[in-house]
Amino acid sequence: MQLKILVTAGDGIGPEVTREAVAVLQEAASVGGNEIIITEGRIGGIAITTDGTPLPQKTLDAALDSDAVFLGAVGGNEFNSLAPDKRPEAGLLGLRAALGGFANLRPAFALKELAVNSPLRAEIIDGVDILFVRELLGGAYFGKPREWNKETGVAFNTMIYSREEVARVARVALQLAQKRRKKLCSVDKANVLEVSQLWRATVIEVAAEFPDVALEHQYVDAMAMHIMNRPRDFDVVVTENLFGDILTDESGVITGSLGMLPSATIGGKVNLYEPIHGSAPDIAGKGLANPLGAILTSALILRHSAGLETEAAAIESAVRKVLEQGFRTADLVRGKDHGYKVLSTTEMGAKVRETVKQILA
Ligand code: NAD
Repeated sequence: MQLKILVTAGDGIGPEVTREAVAVLQEAASVGGNEIIITEGRIGGIAITTDGTPLPQKTLDAALDSDAVFLGAVGGNEFNSLAPDKRPEAGLLGLRAALGGFANLRPAFALKELAVNSPLRAEIIDGVDILFVRELLGGAYFGKPREWNKETGVAFNTMIYSREEVARVARVALQLAQKRRKKLCSVDKANVLEVSQLWRATVIEVAAEFPDVALEHQYVDAMAMHIMNRPRDFDVVVTENLFGDILTDESGVITGSLGMLPSATIGGKVNLYEPIHGSAPDIAGKGLANPLGAILTSALILRHSAGLETEAAAIESAVRKVLEQGFRTADLVRGKDHGYKVLSTTEMGAKVRETVKQILA
């Protein structure tokens, strides 16, 4: 198997964490003789400084010519005074739009070793393993008309979905559920919103093609509570853009650390993979960045763009194992006399790489 990946490491801690993640990915893929071809492209602040634009055409062309794009993070304080369409984040939005992914996958999981990092009680989060599938291109964030009329003092947005937009993301979620615990929860607000009634009717229709997946529906307000009270009950959760934005961030507290969380955006021309954290300028270049979110993102690349499930699972097990052995980056340490072995970004990367090698040997 050959996989062409464009790495756009970006700004701040982006280059530090993607370097470790790519090394882990190469290690995992090479065991089975797979060939990973890495090219690099500039995006965000580094591209503004070097090329005068946050998304150079060269990067865009290279992205569209790849099997997957692996993004680090963009952003930096020195760019905060620029107009929104000139800022580093505009590069990321442009890339997302060009790649066209409509299904954003955000795992929410609990790791026993990190239970103290979550504000939720250990007995509530123990064993949680949810995969959120958030619709990314529709709903209120893109719907027209939209307006803030400053004269009348009235503003509005339009939450709009077509049957096709719902059906395609439902299908992705159902296929993923088939490969997991065969449970799908669809989240909407069908008791109030017509757009949610269409959402629910369409999900039911598409789910009929997947009789092996058990489908349930939850209203978004109830779901916000269920995630905190009984998160173990959920497997795959599919929802529209705005609800998904909120619920996935809420679910981040289950894992308890921003530096641990991966994401993937699939369904478009080229899949886009990125850890969910930003460029963390406060710790950039100090060896303090936690590379595990980026490393877990590399597992998603192998799973969703290369079909290498064994290798993807090996990376995820290696991360758990390294944590079990008491290794931590500084952001994961709680309390004074913790007894953890605190590692730098590169040391943590090397530990995971070594462990992946042992697991796959
Ligand atoms: P952030 O995620 O960069 O940082 C928030 C806090 O978490 C900081 O204290 C940071 O040190 C810490 N943190 C984040 N990732 C970490 C990691 N891997 N290891 C250890 N600690 C980590 O969010 P922010 O501070 O709101 O934003 C900083 C910049 O990043 C801004 O310019 C913002 O626009 C940008 N941003 C980019 C993305 C992206 O590229 N996808 C996402 C969010 C924010």
